[in-house]
Amino acid sequence: MQRTEISKYGEFGLIKHLTERFKINHASTLKGIGDDAAVLNYAEKKILLTTDLLLEGVHFDLTYVPLKHLGYKAAVVNFSDIYAMNGHPKQITVSLGISKRFSVEDLEELYAGIELACKTYGVDLVGGDTSASFTGLTISITCLGEGETDKIVYRNGAKINDLVCVSGDLGSAYMGLQLLEREKIVFAANDQAAPDFNGMDYILQRQLKPEARQDIVLALSEKGIVPTAMMDISDGLSSELIHICSQSKVGCRIFEDKIPINYQAAVMAEELNMNIVTAALNGGEDYELIFTVALEDYEKILTVDNIGIIGHITKSEHGLFLVGRQGEEIALKAQGWNSLNES
Ligand code: ADP
Ligand code: MG
Repeated sequence: MQRTEISKYGEFGLIKHLTERFKINHASTLKGIGDDAAVLNYAEKKILLTTDLLLEGVHFDLTYVPLKHLGYKAAVVNFSDIYAMNGHPKQITVSLGISKRFSVEDLEELYAGIELACKTYGVDLVGGDTSASFTGLTISITCLGEGETDKIVYRNGAKINDLVCVSGDLGSAYMGLQLLEREKIVFAANDQAAPDFNGMDYILQRQLKPEARQDIVLALSEKGIVPTAMMDISDGLSSELIHICSQSKVGCRIFEDKIPINYQAAVMAEELNMNIVTAALNGGEDYELIFTVALEDYEKILTVDNIGIIGHITKSEHGLFLVGRQGEEIALKAQGWNSLNES
Protein backbone atom coordinates (compact mmCIF):
# COMPACT_ATOMS: atom_id res chain seq x y z
CA MET A 1 0.00 0.00 0.00
CA GLN A 2 1.10 3.53 -0.77
CA ARG A 3 2.50 5.57 2.10
CA THR A 4 2.78 9.34 1.82
CA GLU A 5 4.57 11.09 4.67
CA ILE A 6 2.56 13.90 6.24
CA SER A 7 5.58 16.22 5.93
CA LYS A 8 5.09 16.13 2.14
CA TYR A 9 1.93 18.21 2.48
CA GLY A 10 2.76 20.64 5.28
CA GLU A 11 0.07 21.62 7.78
CA PHE A 12 -2.07 23.82 5.54
CA GLY A 13 -1.80 21.49 2.57
CA LEU A 14 -2.78 18.54 4.73
CA ILE A 15 -5.87 20.25 6.16
CA LYS A 16 -6.95 21.32 2.69
CA HIS A 17 -6.33 17.84 1.30
CA LEU A 18 -8.36 16.16 4.04
CA THR A 19 -11.27 18.58 4.13
CA GLU A 20 -11.81 19.88 0.60
CA ARG A 21 -14.48 17.28 -0.22
CA PHE A 22 -16.71 18.27 2.70
CA LYS A 23 -19.70 20.37 1.75
CA ILE A 24 -21.49 22.96 3.89
CA ASN A 25 -25.20 22.22 4.16
CA HIS A 26 -26.67 24.34 6.91
CA ALA A 27 -27.91 27.90 6.75
CA SER A 28 -26.56 28.24 10.30
CA THR A 29 -22.98 27.78 8.97
CA LEU A 30 -22.00 31.23 7.70
CA LYS A 31 -18.27 30.44 7.54
CA GLY A 32 -16.63 27.03 7.89
CA ILE A 33 -12.96 26.06 7.46
CA GLY A 34 -10.47 28.66 6.29
CA ASP A 35 -10.52 31.62 8.64
CA ASP A 36 -9.43 32.11 12.26
CA ALA A 37 -12.85 31.02 13.50
CA ALA A 38 -16.03 29.57 12.05
CA VAL A 39 -19.08 31.87 12.04
CA LEU A 40 -22.49 30.42 12.92
CA ASN A 41 -25.97 31.89 13.07
CA TYR A 42 -28.47 30.14 15.31
CA ALA A 43 -31.07 32.94 15.23
CA GLU A 44 -33.83 32.08 17.73
CA LYS A 45 -32.64 28.50 18.44
CA LYS A 46 -30.74 27.40 21.54
CA ILE A 47 -27.19 26.17 20.95
CA LEU A 48 -26.11 22.78 22.27
CA LEU A 49 -22.38 22.13 22.62
CA THR A 50 -20.55 18.92 23.44
CA THR A 51 -17.01 17.62 23.12
CA ASP A 52 -15.23 14.29 23.29
CA LEU A 53 -11.57 13.29 23.60
CA LEU A 54 -10.30 9.96 22.26
CA LEU A 55 -6.79 8.69 23.03
CA GLU A 56 -5.13 5.77 21.30
CA GLY A 57 -4.57 2.93 23.74
CA VAL A 58 -7.16 4.31 26.16
CA HIS A 59 -10.32 4.70 24.07
CA PHE A 60 -9.46 2.77 20.94
CA ASP A 61 -7.14 0.01 19.81
CA LEU A 62 -5.96 0.26 16.20
CA THR A 63 -5.11 -3.46 16.10
CA TYR A 64 -8.77 -4.14 15.43
CA VAL A 65 -10.41 -0.79 14.75
CA PRO A 66 -10.09 0.37 11.13
CA LEU A 67 -9.38 4.11 10.89
CA LYS A 68 -12.47 4.73 8.79
CA HIS A 69 -14.64 3.19 11.50
CA LEU A 70 -12.81 5.19 14.13
CA GLY A 71 -13.56 8.45 12.31
CA TYR A 72 -17.20 7.48 11.91
CA LYS A 73 -17.58 6.50 15.55
CA ALA A 74 -15.72 9.56 16.89
CA ALA A 75 -18.23 11.79 15.09
CA VAL A 76 -21.34 9.71 15.84
CA VAL A 77 -20.76 9.56 19.62
CA ASN A 78 -20.87 13.37 19.64
CA PHE A 79 -24.09 13.41 17.60
CA SER A 80 -25.53 10.99 20.14
CA ASP A 81 -24.92 13.51 22.95
CA ILE A 82 -26.82 16.19 21.03
CA TYR A 83 -29.76 13.84 20.32
CA ALA A 84 -29.76 12.96 24.03
CA MET A 85 -30.70 16.62 24.69
CA ASN A 86 -33.57 16.24 22.16
CA GLY A 87 -31.60 18.43 19.75
CA HIS A 88 -30.05 18.06 16.30
CA PRO A 89 -26.30 18.16 15.55
CA LYS A 90 -25.31 20.77 12.94
CA GLN A 91 -21.55 21.44 13.01
CA ILE A 92 -18.37 19.74 14.21
CA THR A 93 -14.74 20.68 14.63
CA VAL A 94 -12.09 17.96 14.51
CA SER A 95 -8.77 18.32 16.35
CA LEU A 96 -5.96 15.84 15.84
CA GLY A 97 -2.66 14.92 17.45
CA ILE A 98 -0.76 12.74 14.98
CA SER A 99 2.49 10.84 15.48
CA LYS A 100 4.94 9.93 12.69
CA ARG A 101 3.50 6.42 12.53
CA PHE A 102 0.56 7.78 10.55
CA SER A 103 0.63 8.50 6.84
CA VAL A 104 -1.54 10.78 4.71
CA GLU A 105 -3.40 7.65 3.54
CA ASP A 106 -4.23 6.78 7.16
CA LEU A 107 -5.69 10.25 7.71
CA GLU A 108 -7.64 9.97 4.45
CA GLU A 109 -9.27 6.85 5.90
CA LEU A 110 -10.06 8.62 9.17
CA TYR A 111 -11.62 11.56 7.29
CA ALA A 112 -13.56 9.21 5.00
CA GLY A 113 -15.27 7.92 8.16
CA ILE A 114 -15.88 11.44 9.48
CA GLU A 115 -17.27 12.44 6.08
CA LEU A 116 -19.64 9.47 5.98
CA ALA A 117 -20.92 10.32 9.46
CA CYS A 118 -21.40 13.98 8.48
CA LYS A 119 -23.30 12.95 5.34
CA THR A 120 -25.46 10.40 7.13
CA TYR A 121 -26.49 12.79 9.89
CA GLY A 122 -26.40 16.04 7.91
CA VAL A 123 -23.61 17.77 9.82
CA ASP A 124 -21.09 20.39 8.57
CA LEU A 125 -17.35 20.13 9.33
CA VAL A 126 -16.41 23.74 10.15
CA GLY A 127 -12.91 23.62 11.60
CA GLY A 128 -10.40 21.98 13.87
CA ASP A 129 -6.77 21.95 14.80
CA THR A 130 -3.84 19.76 13.80
CA SER A 131 -0.64 19.06 15.66
CA ALA A 132 2.21 16.58 15.64
CA SER A 133 2.26 14.26 18.65
CA PHE A 134 4.81 11.91 20.24
CA THR A 135 2.25 9.39 21.43
CA GLY A 136 0.02 7.87 18.79
CA LEU A 137 -3.27 9.32 17.66
CA THR A 138 -5.50 11.72 19.58
CA ILE A 139 -8.87 12.86 18.25
CA SER A 140 -11.05 15.48 19.83
CA ILE A 141 -14.36 16.32 18.23
CA THR A 142 -16.59 19.18 19.31
CA CYS A 143 -20.17 19.21 18.11
CA LEU A 144 -22.67 22.07 18.00
CA GLY A 145 -26.36 21.44 17.67
CA GLU A 146 -29.65 23.22 17.90
CA GLY A 147 -32.63 22.75 20.15
CA GLU A 148 -35.92 24.51 20.66
CA THR A 149 -36.07 26.37 23.97
CA ASP A 150 -39.06 24.44 25.33
CA LYS A 151 -38.05 21.04 23.88
CA ILE A 152 -34.54 20.60 25.27
CA VAL A 153 -34.51 17.59 27.60
CA TYR A 154 -32.20 17.46 30.63
CA ARG A 155 -31.27 14.60 32.95
CA ASN A 156 -33.04 16.17 35.91
CA GLY A 157 -36.69 16.19 34.83
CA ALA A 158 -37.90 12.66 35.71
CA LYS A 159 -41.06 12.65 37.88
CA ILE A 160 -42.65 10.02 40.12
CA ASN A 161 -44.73 7.51 38.08
CA ASP A 162 -43.01 8.41 34.78
CA LEU A 163 -42.31 5.45 32.50
CA VAL A 164 -38.67 4.52 31.89
CA CYS A 165 -38.03 3.78 28.20
CA VAL A 166 -35.00 2.66 26.19
CA SER A 167 -34.40 2.46 22.44
CA GLY A 168 -32.93 -0.55 20.59
CA ASP A 169 -31.13 -3.22 22.58
CA LEU A 170 -28.44 -3.12 25.25
CA GLY A 171 -25.18 -4.99 25.86
CA SER A 172 -24.46 -5.73 22.18
CA ALA A 173 -21.58 -3.27 21.77
CA TYR A 174 -19.93 -4.71 24.87
CA MET A 175 -20.29 -8.28 23.57
CA GLY A 176 -18.81 -7.08 20.24
CA LEU A 177 -15.81 -5.75 22.16
CA GLN A 178 -15.43 -9.06 24.04
CA LEU A 179 -15.41 -10.92 20.71
CA LEU A 180 -12.75 -8.59 19.26
CA GLU A 181 -10.62 -8.95 22.40
CA ARG A 182 -10.92 -12.75 22.25
CA GLU A 183 -9.83 -12.86 18.61
CA LYS A 184 -6.96 -10.45 19.36
CA ILE A 185 -5.64 -12.88 21.99
CA VAL A 186 -6.04 -15.85 19.63
CA PHE A 187 -4.16 -13.92 16.93
CA ALA A 188 -1.38 -12.90 19.34
CA ALA A 189 -0.83 -16.59 20.16
CA ASN A 190 -0.93 -17.70 16.51
CA ASP A 191 -0.74 -15.16 13.74
CA GLN A 192 -1.89 -17.76 11.20
CA ALA A 193 -5.26 -18.03 12.94
CA ALA A 194 -8.10 -16.43 11.00
CA PRO A 195 -10.51 -14.53 13.25
CA ASP A 196 -13.76 -16.37 13.91
CA PHE A 197 -16.48 -13.75 13.48
CA ASN A 198 -19.03 -16.12 11.95
CA GLY A 199 -22.64 -15.00 12.46
CA MET A 200 -21.56 -12.18 14.77
CA ASP A 201 -21.88 -9.29 12.32
CA TYR A 202 -24.51 -7.46 14.38
CA ILE A 203 -22.52 -7.22 17.63
CA LEU A 204 -19.34 -6.33 15.71
CA GLN A 205 -21.16 -3.55 13.92
CA ARG A 206 -22.56 -2.31 17.24
CA GLN A 207 -19.00 -2.01 18.59
CA LEU A 208 -17.20 -0.76 15.47
CA LYS A 209 -19.85 1.32 13.74
CA PRO A 210 -22.42 2.53 16.26
CA GLU A 211 -25.27 4.79 15.17
CA ALA A 212 -26.86 7.69 17.04
CA ARG A 213 -30.65 7.56 17.52
CA GLN A 214 -31.70 10.46 15.30
CA ASP A 215 -34.68 8.31 14.27
CA ILE A 216 -35.99 8.15 17.84
CA VAL A 217 -35.67 11.91 18.39
CA LEU A 218 -37.56 12.52 15.12
CA ALA A 219 -40.23 9.92 15.96
CA LEU A 220 -40.84 11.37 19.44
CA SER A 221 -41.24 14.83 17.97
CA GLU A 222 -43.63 13.53 15.28
CA LYS A 223 -45.83 11.96 17.98
CA GLY A 224 -45.75 15.11 20.07
CA ILE A 225 -43.84 13.48 22.94
CA VAL A 226 -41.29 15.50 24.92
CA PRO A 227 -39.49 13.19 27.39
CA THR A 228 -39.22 14.47 30.96
CA ALA A 229 -35.56 13.36 31.17
CA MET A 230 -33.19 11.79 28.66
CA MET A 231 -29.56 10.76 28.13
CA ASP A 232 -27.64 8.45 25.84
CA ILE A 233 -26.38 5.11 27.11
CA SER A 234 -22.61 5.19 26.81
CA ASP A 235 -21.62 3.66 30.18
CA GLY A 236 -24.32 1.00 30.70
CA LEU A 237 -27.96 1.18 31.75
CA SER A 238 -27.22 1.03 35.47
CA SER A 239 -24.89 4.00 35.55
CA GLU A 240 -27.22 6.12 33.36
CA LEU A 241 -30.26 5.34 35.55
CA ILE A 242 -28.28 6.46 38.57
CA HIS A 243 -27.48 9.76 36.82
CA ILE A 244 -31.11 10.43 35.87
CA CYS A 245 -32.46 9.43 39.30
CA SER A 246 -29.90 11.35 41.36
CA GLN A 247 -30.25 14.51 39.23
CA SER A 248 -34.06 14.22 39.24
CA LYS A 249 -34.15 13.28 42.97
CA VAL A 250 -36.28 10.17 42.36
CA GLY A 251 -35.93 6.37 42.52
CA CYS A 252 -36.82 3.66 39.97
CA ARG A 253 -37.90 0.06 39.44
CA ILE A 254 -36.54 -1.65 36.32
CA PHE A 255 -37.67 -5.13 35.26
CA GLU A 256 -35.04 -7.63 34.17
CA ASP A 257 -37.34 -9.36 31.71
CA LYS A 258 -38.06 -6.03 29.98
CA ILE A 259 -34.42 -5.18 29.23
CA PRO A 260 -34.05 -5.45 25.44
CA ILE A 261 -31.38 -8.00 24.49
CA ASN A 262 -30.28 -9.01 21.00
CA TYR A 263 -30.10 -12.73 20.19
CA GLN A 264 -26.49 -12.63 18.87
CA ALA A 265 -25.37 -10.76 21.97
CA ALA A 266 -27.02 -13.41 24.17
CA VAL A 267 -25.32 -16.22 22.21
CA MET A 268 -21.93 -14.50 22.53
CA ALA A 269 -22.42 -14.01 26.27
CA GLU A 270 -23.24 -17.70 26.68
CA GLU A 271 -20.13 -18.71 24.68
CA LEU A 272 -17.96 -16.53 26.93
CA ASN A 273 -19.70 -17.63 30.13
CA MET A 274 -20.91 -14.13 30.83
CA ASN A 275 -24.29 -12.83 31.94
CA ILE A 276 -25.93 -10.80 29.18
CA VAL A 277 -28.06 -8.80 31.64
CA THR A 278 -24.88 -7.76 33.46
CA ALA A 279 -23.46 -6.71 30.08
CA ALA A 280 -26.60 -4.63 29.41
CA LEU A 281 -26.42 -3.02 32.87
CA ASN A 282 -22.69 -2.39 33.01
CA GLY A 283 -21.32 -2.72 29.47
CA GLY A 284 -20.72 0.43 27.47
CA GLU A 285 -21.03 2.12 24.12
CA ASP A 286 -24.52 1.11 23.06
CA TYR A 287 -25.39 4.76 22.27
CA GLU A 288 -29.08 4.01 22.71
CA LEU A 289 -31.34 6.56 24.39
CA ILE A 290 -32.83 6.16 27.86
CA PHE A 291 -35.67 8.53 28.65
CA THR A 292 -38.65 9.00 30.91
CA VAL A 293 -42.13 10.04 29.78
CA ALA A 294 -45.24 11.05 31.72
CA LEU A 295 -47.80 8.27 32.24
CA GLU A 296 -50.26 10.22 30.04
CA ASP A 297 -47.94 9.50 27.10
CA TYR A 298 -48.27 5.71 27.53
CA GLU A 299 -50.58 5.16 24.52
CA LYS A 300 -48.46 7.43 22.32
CA ILE A 301 -45.17 5.78 23.25
CA LEU A 302 -46.56 2.36 22.25
CA THR A 303 -46.87 3.66 18.69
CA VAL A 304 -43.14 4.50 18.39
CA ASP A 305 -41.03 1.67 16.91
CA ASN A 306 -37.88 0.36 18.60
CA ILE A 307 -38.74 1.54 22.08
CA GLY A 308 -39.20 -0.64 25.14
CA ILE A 309 -40.75 0.36 28.45
CA ILE A 310 -38.49 -1.19 31.08
CA GLY A 311 -39.81 0.25 34.35
CA HIS A 312 -41.04 3.32 36.18
CA ILE A 313 -39.91 6.18 38.39
CA THR A 314 -40.60 6.02 42.13
CA LYS A 315 -40.08 8.25 45.15
CA SER A 316 -36.44 8.77 46.00
CA GLU A 317 -36.88 6.94 49.37
CA HIS A 318 -37.77 3.75 47.48
CA GLY A 319 -34.30 3.55 45.99
CA LEU A 320 -33.07 2.24 42.64
CA PHE A 321 -33.80 -1.43 41.98
CA LEU A 322 -33.71 -4.06 39.30
CA VAL A 323 -36.60 -6.52 39.73
CA GLY A 324 -35.40 -10.01 38.73
CA ARG A 325 -37.34 -12.78 37.00
CA GLN A 326 -38.44 -14.26 40.36
CA GLY A 327 -39.48 -10.86 41.69
CA GLU A 328 -36.26 -10.44 43.72
CA GLU A 329 -35.03 -6.86 44.06
CA ILE A 330 -31.39 -6.05 43.35
CA ALA A 331 -29.99 -2.57 44.11
CA LEU A 332 -28.55 -0.87 41.02
CA LYS A 333 -24.86 -0.06 41.32
CA ALA A 334 -22.72 2.25 39.24
CA GLN A 335 -20.06 -0.08 37.96
CA GLY A 336 -20.49 1.30 34.47
CA TRP A 337 -17.88 0.73 31.86
CA ASN A 338 -15.37 3.50 32.41
CA SER A 339 -11.89 3.71 30.96
CA LEU A 340 -10.70 5.45 34.12
CA ASN A 341 -11.42 2.29 36.15
CA GLU A 342 -9.23 0.07 34.02
CA SER A 343 -5.84 1.23 35.20
P1 ADP B 1 -4.85 28.53 13.44
O1 ADP B 1 -3.40 28.76 13.18
O2 ADP B 1 -5.68 29.77 13.53
O3 ADP B 1 -5.10 27.54 14.54
P2 ADP B 1 -5.01 26.46 11.49
O4 ADP B 1 -3.95 26.65 10.49
O5 ADP B 1 -4.82 25.45 12.57
O6 ADP B 1 -5.42 27.88 12.10
O7 ADP B 1 -6.35 26.10 10.74
C1 ADP B 1 -6.73 26.68 9.51
C2 ADP B 1 -8.17 26.32 9.24
O8 ADP B 1 -8.28 24.90 9.11
C3 ADP B 1 -9.13 26.71 10.35
O9 ADP B 1 -10.36 27.05 9.75
C4 ADP B 1 -9.24 25.46 11.17
O10 ADP B 1 -10.47 25.42 11.86
C5 ADP B 1 -9.14 24.37 10.09
N1 ADP B 1 -8.55 23.10 10.59
C6 ADP B 1 -7.35 22.91 11.21
N2 ADP B 1 -7.13 21.63 11.49
C7 ADP B 1 -8.24 20.95 11.08
C8 ADP B 1 -8.64 19.58 11.11
N3 ADP B 1 -7.88 18.61 11.64
N4 ADP B 1 -9.85 19.27 10.58
C9 ADP B 1 -10.64 20.23 10.06
N5 ADP B 1 -10.32 21.52 9.99
C10 ADP B 1 -9.14 21.90 10.50
MG1 MG C 1 -4.47 25.60 14.50
